[in-house]
Amino acid sequence: MADERARLLAKFIEPLRVEPGSKVKLAKDFDPGYKASFLKKKEGATILQAGVDVLAEYQARLAAQDTWGVLVCLQALDAGGKDGTIRHVMSGVNPQGVHVSGFKVPSAEELDHDYLWRYACRLPRRGEIGIFNRSHYEEVLVVRVHPELLDRQKLPPSAKGKGVWQRRYAEINDWEHFLAGNGFKIVKLFLDLSKEEQRIRFLKRVDLPDKNWKFSAADAHERKYWDDYQAAFSDMLTHTSTEWAPWYVIPADHKWFARICVSAVLAHTLIGIDPRYPKVDAAKRQDLAETKALLEAEAPKGAAADPFQAELEAEAASEQAGQETKQARKQRKTMAKVRAKVAKA
Ligand code: AMP
Ligand code: MG
Repeated sequence: MADERARLLAKFIEPLRVEPGSKVKLAKDFDPGYKASFLKKKEGATILQAGVDVLAEYQARLAAQDTWGVLVCLQALDAGGKDGTIRHVMSGVNPQGVHVSGFKVPSAEELDHDYLWRYACRLPRRGEIGIFNRSHYEEVLVVRVHPELLDRQKLPPSAKGKGVWQRRYAEINDWEHFLAGNGFKIVKLFLDLSKEEQRIRFLKRVDLPDKNWKFSAADAHERKYWDDYQAAFSDMLTHTSTEWAPWYVIPADHKWFARICVSAVLAHTLIGIDPRYPKVDAAKRQDLAETKALLEAEAPKGAAADPFQAELEAEAASEQAGQETKQARKQRKTMAKVRAKVAKA
């Protein structure tokens, strides 16, 4: 089952992956409106739920194993859907195992350090999933589009002259290589939004009172630099998609589809890590058996010695008898249909 899921996910996300070493031109290579014509929105909800389930299951194992950490970097233009994606995709995981860090305009203290410092300070621990809502990639995006931001970084002339972006790409690749080599998987997701969809989402923020807080005139002003951002994103994808930390370009015009893609990439990554619950040794097993005997001896009159075990046995029996809840059956059937379609696509 796990193998089958892994194959399905790998196939589904393959078109989103930026092949390391390939030259990307966003407008030519990726379509923000893409939504895999073979998938219906209704099936999408089932796959998203399956992705959420896989994440919950594997996140628990990741935490128990305490060897690997996962860093998810989310990049997008304003209104790209980063916040909603995090909310939906991570809805099933234990909040104790996930940390979300957002990055805004750097503070004075942050500008007193090297440009990767503030990101390094918020890296996940082993066993954790860390989500960067905006990430170190802002250092080659907004900072590139607005050169005055680079001037504020108090860099020596040798670090900001010609070749500064190539240099930063190499530094970022090296940093990620170091992290990946030491037990931290890096998942890089770019939510690719069209200019027209951004316009519509901004208007929604203006028109709906409960969305007003999200709107800033500065965001709309930033649309003047649309082409510069597209060029900066293309160059970033070209130079920083690596074998150890590839980029995935997520078509973001349809939120429901973007969320499926993100959950598929994350599930694929976690299945790839394949974290295991630590094995219990003989001494510990002996301990458990003794404790069980003690607790069973304390059963009040008339109560089962181990009510939980009775429940487990009943569950196993109903599974063997082929009984399945209606919901489980529906989900299994939809997943089988989707699998068949993905296999054909
Ligand atoms: P938001 O995520 O919408 O709350 O906005 C955060 C703002 O901080 C965005 O306009 C980003 O472009 C900006 N920002 C994030 N990182 C940096 C950075 N390293 N240098 C300058 N501005 C940044
Ligand atoms: Mg904003």
